[in-house]
Amino acid sequence: MRRLVCSFLILVSLHSFGQSYQKVHNKAIVIDTHNDVLSEVTMKGLNIENDLTGKSHSDIARFKRGGIDIQVFSIFCDERFGKDTAFKFANIEIDSLYAIVARNPEKMMIVTNPKELQQAVKQKKLGCMIGVEGGHMIEDNLDNLNALYKRGARYMTLTWNNSTSWATSAMDETAHADSLKSSPKGAGLSDFGKQVVKRMNQLGMIVDLSHVGEQTFWDAINSTTKPVIASHSDAWTLCPVFRNLKDDQLRAIAKNGGVVHLNFYSGFVDSNYNKNKAAFLHRHQSEVDSLKSLKWANYEVEEWTAKEYPQEVEAYRPNLSQLLDHLDYIVKLIGVDHVGLGSDFDGIESAPRPLDDVTAYPLITKALLERGYSKKDVEKILGGNFIRVFQANQTTN
Ligand SMILES: [Zn+2]
Repeated sequence: MRRLVCSFLILVSLHSFGQSYQKVHNKAIVIDTHNDVLSEVTMKGLNIENDLTGKSHSDIARFKRGGIDIQVFSIFCDERFGKDTAFKFANIEIDSLYAIVARNPEKMMIVTNPKELQQAVKQKKLGCMIGVEGGHMIEDNLDNLNALYKRGARYMTLTWNNSTSWATSAMDETAHADSLKSSPKGAGLSDFGKQVVKRMNQLGMIVDLSHVGEQTFWDAINSTTKPVIASHSDAWTLCPVFRNLKDDQLRAIAKNGGVVHLNFYSGFVDSNYNKNKAAFLHRHQSEVDSLKSLKWANYEVEEWTAKEYPQEVEAYRPNLSQLLDHLDYIVKLIGVDHVGLGSDFDGIESAPRPLDDVTAYPLITKALLERGYSKKDVEKILGGNFIRVFQANQTTN
C-alpha cells in the first residue's frame, strides 16, 4: 500500500511538473534568432505552409507546436553569389517570406520593431523577423544595406564563412591565417567595414558577430555603439571549433550588453561529433568525391550524405544536456542576461537528441527548470534578453 501511495505521489508530481513547464513555456516569449528554412524554400521549392515533417526541421504548424512566438528567418546565400547576384538573391528570399506571410495573415506577421513584436505575441501569430546572414549580400554598397533595412532586415551577420572585401570571417582567419598576415589588407574590419557597423547602428540593425573572425569581432565590438548579438554560436572552451566564441569574446559581449544565442548544431556542441563525422564521410568517400566534382559546397555534401544515411548519423548525435552545458558555462562566465537560443535549424544536418525539429523547444524549457533556473531566468533565456537588445538598437528618428 505504501508503495502504491508513493507511486501515486510521484505520478501526481510528475504530472504537475509536466503542466508547469508547458505553462512556463507558453507564458514566455519564445524567440529563436536563426533558422535557415527560407533558403530551402527559395532554393529547393519547399513550402512551409505544408507539413514537412521528415523533410525539414520547420514548417508553420510545427513552429506553433514548438510554442515559438518570434522566428528570425535567415536570408542566406553562399560565396558563389557575388556582385550583381547576392543582393538580388537576398531580395528574392525576402519576397518569398512576404508572400508566405501575405497568404497566412491569420497565422503570421512581419515584425520590424519591438511594438510589432508584442503585437504578434498578443495576437498569437508567428512574428517573422528577417536577419541577413553574410555581409557579402550588400555587395560593398551602403545603399544596399539601407535597402535591406527598409525591407525589414533587423540584423546582419557581418560575414558568413566567406570573408567580404571589408571583413574577415572565422573560417578564413582560422584556415588562412598566414596568408592574411602577409596580405596588405590583413584581418579584421577595413575602414569601410567600420562604416558598415556605423550605418547599422544608425539604422537600428543589430550587428551579428556569429561567423566573423576574431580580429573582425574585436574591431566590430570596439566600433559599435549598440549592443550586439551572436545569433548562432556556442562556447569554444567546451567545443573548440572555429565558429565558437572564446571566453574573452563572451566577456566582451556581456560588457557590450549583448546576447549569445546558442547554436544547436551537434558539431558546435560536441567535439566528438566532428571526429565521428569525419569517419562517417570517409566511409562514403566516393559519393563525397562525386558530389564535390559537381561543384557542390561542403555543407551541401554533408547535408546530402547525412540525409542518405540517417541511421549512421543518428548513432553519434550528442544529447540536449551537452547543449545545455554550453548554456550553463556561458551563464557562469557572463551571467543569465547574455544568453538566448539561435538553433540554426534547417541549416544543420544534426542537432542533439531529442531536438529533432522546431517542436522541441518546450523540452528545453523543461530541462532548464530541471537544472534549477528560475522562471524569470528561463523567460530571459527564451526571449527576454533578445528583446532587450532589439529595444536598445532602436533609433529615435
Ligand atoms: Zn550560419
